[in-house]
Parts: sequence; structure tokens; C-alpha cells
Amino acid sequence: MPYRAEYIWIDGSTPTPKLRSKTKIIPDGQEPPLWGFDGSSTNQAPGSDSDCVLKPVFVCPDPIRGNNDVLVMNEVLIPADMSPHPSNTRAACAEVAEKYAAHESWFGIEQEYTLFKDGRPHGWPIGGYPAPQGGYYCGVGADEIWGREIVERHTEACMAAGLEISGTNAEVMIGQWEFQVGPLGPLEVSDQLWVARWLLYRIAEDFDISAHLTPKPVSGDWNGAGAHTNFSTKEMRESYEPIVAGAEALGKRHDAHITNYGPGIETRLTGLHETAPWTEYSYGVSDRGASVRIPWQVKQEGKGYLEDRRPNANMDPYIVTRLITETVCADADGEPIVD
Ligand code: ADP
Ligand code: MN
Ligand code: MN
Ligand code: MN
Repeated sequence: MPYRAEYIWIDGSTPTPKLRSKTKIIPDGQEPPLWGFDGSSTNQAPGSDSDCVLKPVFVCPDPIRGNNDVLVMNEVLIPADMSPHPSNTRAACAEVAEKYAAHESWFGIEQEYTLFKDGRPHGWPIGGYPAPQGGYYCGVGADEIWGREIVERHTEACMAAGLEISGTNAEVMIGQWEFQVGPLGPLEVSDQLWVARWLLYRIAEDFDISAHLTPKPVSGDWNGAGAHTNFSTKEMRESYEPIVAGAEALGKRHDAHITNYGPGIETRLTGLHETAPWTEYSYGVSDRGASVRIPWQVKQEGKGYLEDRRPNANMDPYIVTRLITETVCADADGEPIVD
């Protein structure tokens, strides 16, 4: 029996790239091959020279279609010389992952998102506001929770696809949720996070609801949506000093990180709502108002990981994991941190 492969890729939309996908029927016994698409419809090529190449980089079972069908995450290449397309941020991530492989970087990413129905956050009354936030985080009950069925379906789908989803929770703002992927290496966590995002959009579609990664869905006294990125090297998992050194290293390159942590970061990192202001770098133990937090338990145990709280929900994990690996590992290796 032939099977269906859903080819997923990241487009060239600005400022925030979007996911695209299309289906290929593949004969039984064959692996998903290179494929192409019309780059002039995705902001990736001019109409006169429109072909772009899809190169499979990660394949997993398709939990929605079942059967032998698969999901295929791709990088985009330029056909003339098969070099990475400018929109392809994975290629640079792969280089850095390889360069610093000896440090065995792990990432656990907390993906926050907001469900939208009829043009407003799911659960919000028409033309008004819900009760102020306070009871929604990890809440239960029909007066506090909207969209749990989507969350459960999405979690099951990630598990069935073999993704390393590690948990979910309702977030501080009504209609806002989180799932976590990892810990995994930089490329693995990023490939899987993109596939998990695709599954979220696809499953919410069945409910006439759209999931958004917009960093500040409602301005004012409502929480933004982030993608806290938890990070460790082999050395950090063995002792405490490398964790402090990592937090110090991240402070040496704050600007480069901030400008690459997702469009609209200044709307979210205001210094309120469990964020540090985007203009300043800080780190601390247990401090949810710091740029980087060392969890209390990590301090207690004298080893573990640190949490970079700066990335937006709409960040590109290939960029964020590349920057963190590069900054922390270069510093650990005694290389200068430059931009
Ligand atoms: P928070 O308390 O900030 O809400 P979460 O429980 O949502 O934290 O997320 C913590 C994340 O950190 C999880 O994805 C988990 O897999 C990840 N994690 C745990 N240990 C490590 C480690 N040593 N290195 C990197 N990530 C880790
Ligand atoms: Mn969390
Ligand atoms: Mn959260
Ligand atoms: Mn967190």
C-alpha cells in the first residue's frame, strides 16, 4: 500500500515565518524523497525562478491520519546549488551543534500559545474582558478553562508521533496554554517543536479554533506568551559552577539574543508579568523576574540546568538553541564572544 507523507516546512513570511505543508503519496517501501514547491507563493522565490527544494530532516508517524502515514519536517534548499535558502535557519544550527557536540547540549522548551475563536482569545466575552487573571493558571472548571479538549488531543498526538513532549499546563491568561518538549539536543528539540506546533494548528483547525504564538495577545494587564528555554551542558548536569558561568556568559551577548528571540519581544519583556525588561540582563536563583533563572532545585542539588526566560512564544527554536549553544559553549571553551 502506498502511504501519505505530509511535508512540513517553514516559509519566508516576515516578521514571523509560518508553517506550510502539502501531501505526497509515496510507493510502499520507499523513503520520503527530496521534493519541491512554489517558492513564489511563500515569500521564498520570485515567480520567474520559483522552485525551492524540500529536504526531509525528521520523519515521524502521522498521528492524525494513522495507517503508515508520516509527518516529514524539511529544510528548504536553493535548487541551483542545493545550498540552504536564506529562510533556512536549521543549517546554521546544525553547524553549531556539531562544533560544540562535546558539551552535549540539552534543551527543554516551554511553548506557550493562545487559542483564538471568532477573533478573540478563546473564553473571552464579546466586547469585554473576563475576570482578571489569577485563577486560570493550572485551573480546573468550566469558568476558568477553555480549550482543554484541544490540549488533550494535541498531547495524545505528540505522544503517538513519538515526540518528546514532557508536560502541559493551563497558563495565566484565559485561553492560554503551554506544552513542553525535551530535553533533547538543539536540532532534535527544534525539529520536534516545529512538528508539535504544526500538530497544534492542525488539531485546533478541527474545532474552528486557531492557535497563535503571538507574544502579547492582549495588551495591558495580561500575561504575554513566551518560550522559556531550559538549557544544560554535560558539565552543568554534573556540577553547579558551569551553570553560573553559563548565566554569566549569556549576559555578555544579551543584545544579540534579544534581537533574535522573536518579533515583538519588547511588547512582552516589559518587566511586569514574570518578565525582566528587554533592555537589561539579569540572572538569579528562583527569580521569575530575571532574564535567566536558576531553578531552586538546581541550586539545592548543586547541578542541573538554567532557564532562559527571554524567548518569545513566536521564536524560531533553530535560532534560539544555536545562539545559546554558541554563547555558552564558546565561553566555556575560552573563545571570545563576538557579534
Ligand atoms: P517551569 O517551572 O519553568 O514552568 P517546566 O516544567 O514547564 O518549567 O519546564 C521545564 C523544562 O525543562 C522541561 O521541558 C524539562 O524537560 C526541561 N529540563 C529538565 N531538565 C533539563 C536539563 N538538564 N537540561 C535541559 N532541559 C531540562
Ligand atoms: Mn512551564
Ligand atoms: Mn509558562
Ligand atoms: Mn518556565
